Amino acid sequence: MELEFATRCIYGNKETFEKESTGTISFPIYQTATYAHPEVGQSTGFDYSRLQNPTREQLEKVVASLEKGIDALAFSSGMAAITALMEIFKPGDHIITDADLYGGSIRLFDNISEKNGITFSHVDCSKVDVEEYITKDTKAIFIETPTNPMMNVVDIRKIAAIAKEHDLILIVDNTFLSPYFQNPLELGADVVVHSGTKYLGGHNDTLSGFVVTNVQEISDKLRFIIKTVGSGLAPFDSWLILRGIKTLPIRMEKAQENAQAIVKYLLSEPKVKNVYYPGIEGSQGYEICKSQARGFGAMLTFEVESKHLAKHILKYTRLIPFAESLGGVETLLTYPCTQTHADVPEEVRIANGITDCVLRLSAGIEDSKDLIADLKEAIDSYDGYQRLYI
Ligand SMILES: *Cc1c(COP(=O)(O)O)cnc(C)c1O
Repeated sequence: MELEFATRCIYGNKETFEKESTGTISFPIYQTATYAHPEVGQSTGFDYSRLQNPTREQLEKVVASLEKGIDALAFSSGMAAITALMEIFKPGDHIITDADLYGGSIRLFDNISEKNGITFSHVDCSKVDVEEYITKDTKAIFIETPTNPMMNVVDIRKIAAIAKEHDLILIVDNTFLSPYFQNPLELGADVVVHSGTKYLGGHNDTLSGFVVTNVQEISDKLRFIIKTVGSGLAPFDSWLILRGIKTLPIRMEKAQENAQAIVKYLLSEPKVKNVYYPGIEGSQGYEICKSQARGFGAMLTFEVESKHLAKHILKYTRLIPFAESLGGVETLLTYPCTQTHADVPEEVRIANGITDCVLRLSAGIEDSKDLIADLKEAIDSYDGYQRLYI
């Protein structure tokens, strides 16, 4: 019997919830660095917490079950996960990545991975023919969909077919939709990465990251890397993410409902020039997102009429904090050009549409009436007086 998604959020797959001897309902936090051996040459299966920890393993089993992978590895942050993943490549390898990725991923690729001899082509995978960028050294394609922050949707099945034909590893950063709405491994990807800091944890209180795969060889390499580089998630943080995941389905539903209400308001607001959300009928991503995901998510981006208004909104919303990050119960507003994408070269940033008039909003699970009233009050209080915000 295959358990349904919401049940797997609480128990993982059936075989992973054999009862603890105490009957504990909440999985225990094994706050230990090391484990005693019965005798020389014997092990309980647990030797040292950099290699194995029961709390982290329970979390990994739950996340593997949500993404339908054969293995999931929990790291201390999303960037730690992606950094470890880059270690499966070697100098001379070439990777095609989407041009509109999370800024931290671009920073990693262009500054650390490049230095280690890996080369990258950043291309708009929602528009160009990715096949044209494949060279004899190409080993992987790394995409994010919907993209951050412009919400372009990439056709995962199409890219997976190209990857298969050329024997490339397809990696999908699935942070934005979470496994509740989208399962890239089922669409042909080989590896899924997550910033668990976002929807999986869901409370803006814990960093974490995941790599999930359905390829045994990649899992073996990653298990060697995690024990060698030592960036596995700590026991207490593993427990916090396990707890967060239990409410993932109801949080995702409510956050999406709020995002849709906010989109409706923003579309009616004359001072807002553009709204980017894949759930808008007729938008670039609408049909593709519908064909490959079970929802449109709770992230949206909008462009206002001037940078002065953008800064005014960030200063004068009284409820919604102006903060980095996303995917938590609190709605957050982000200014990509000075926050998430500050390290992306200006000409690339502008070419991707991330101007200083662009704001990103992660809908939380508050009452949407309060969120809309807050945004409206901030926008209405702008009188066009610009000197204050230059
Ligand atoms: C936040 C984020 C990351 C990085 O994760 P951290 O947990 O902050 O290290 C990677 N990808 C996406 C899409 C993100 O939003």
